[in-house]
Formats: sequence, C-alpha cells, structure tokens
Amino acid sequence: MRKRIVAGNWKMNTDVTAGTQLAAELMTLLAEKPAPDNVGVAIAVPFTHITEVARCIDQKVICLAAQNCSSESAGAYTGEVSATMLKSASVMAVLVGHSERRSYFHEDHPTLARKVDQVLANGMRPVFCFGEVLEEREGGIQNRIVEAQLMESVFHLSETDFSKLILAYEPVWAIGTGKVASPEQAQEMHKYVRDLIAGRYGAAVADGTTILYGGSCKSSNAVEIFSKPDVDGGLIGGASLDAPEFHRIIHSF
Ligand code: PEP
Repeated sequence: MRKRIVAGNWKMNTDVTAGTQLAAELMTLLAEKPAPDNVGVAIAVPFTHITEVARCIDQKVICLAAQNCSSESAGAYTGEVSATMLKSASVMAVLVGHSERRSYFHEDHPTLARKVDQVLANGMRPVFCFGEVLEEREGGIQNRIVEAQLMESVFHLSETDFSKLILAYEPVWAIGTGKVASPEQAQEMHKYVRDLIAGRYGAAVADGTTILYGGSCKSSNAVEIFSKPDVDGGLIGGASLDAPEFHRIIHSF
C-alpha cells in the first residue's frame, strides 16, 4: 500500500522562536496521539528555521522539509541555498515547483527539472508541486497543463529516481483562497496523473506513487478529500500554522 502523507507548508510565516514552538507543539500532539498507520508527517519550514526545528523534532515522527532549493550545485549564486547545504542541515525533503515560486519567481519547467535533479542527487525526496491556474481550469485545459508540467520537469527521471518523488496536485485557484477543489475534481485529476505515470513508468510505479492534494485543505474538508482512492494525503498551507488543526488533518484518513 502506497504511503499517505500530510505535509505542512509554512511559507514565509513565523520567526525562529514561534516556528520552533509550533514544531514542538506538533511533536507533543503526535506523542499523545500518533499519526495513523502508514501516514507520514512532514513540515516544510523557512531556511532560517531548519537548524532549530531539526533540534526539537524526531524525524521518525516528523520529516523535516525545505520549501525550495537552488537549481545549481554550488558557486557564485548570492542568496541561493543548495540542496547539498539542506542535506547537511538534516533536511529530508524539498518542495519543488510550488505555484508561488512558479508565478512570483518565474521558475520555469527546465529550472524545476534541475532542482528536482539536485534534490535527488543529494539523497532527499522532492515534493513536486503542479497544477493549473483558474483561467486554464475555466478553459478546460487543466489536463494538458498538468501533463506539460510533469513531462517537462519530472518525466526525464529514471524509474528508480521517479519512485522517490512525492507529487502534490495544487490547483492554483484553490491555494490560499479558501476555494477548495471538490473531492471529485481532486480525484479526477489524481487519477489522470496516475494514468500518465502508468503510461510513462508502468502500472506498478503509478500505483506506488504518493499524490497529495493541496489547496485550502482543512480538517473540515480533509476527510472527504482524503477518502478518494487516488488522493494520498495533503499539502497544507495556512492550516499547518495551527498545530491542533494540522494534527486533526493528520487524523483525517
Ligand atoms: C500550499 O501552500 O501549498 C497550500 C496548499 O496553501 P493553502 O492550504 O493555504 O491553500
């Protein structure tokens, strides 16, 4: 049975003190009531928080993730943080291709492919995010958009490397808007993506790939969304900043 995951994306929120407290509170809640069997928990924290958060969590309980990394391995790239640096700071997974990075920082398909390669080359797991914007959904071309995102940034991988990916379908119109995709819309896209993976890597790889849903997911809608057969958990933005709420989402299977 493929792994289910609930991953928090803190985005650019909390300072180091508040972030460390949030991680510690989540550890306490998971000690009182651990995640269900076969459900992994991750938090993607700001770069500045990594060292302190790593100190206060047990990575057997919460996997430490970063929100981004450089597409380059080292050198004169002022302000960038490499995958090697993240690995050396105990990070286990890295978000790649979040829609906020695609839109505000103009990250294109080839750049994202290089980031995915960097994360894998450093023994971490990419959480590859993709999804269509509102006009694309309204124009009925969401499948074509998602197919291109996968083709251009992750379908170059070998089967072995692809099997290390976690995918996150995040319809951009649902991120931070309070407008959640219906469970049926999520299921339809997740099934479409799983079929694309089967076409490229075969049924066994497709069946083993964890595909998360992201976009205004909360404890009030998670149960219904996670109940869909091709939805393997969630990437949670705003709601991951509240430890009890995030803990309830972890228990929404
Ligand atoms: C996200 O940042 O990946 C996300 C899904 O945000 P939110 O849950 O706030 O919509």
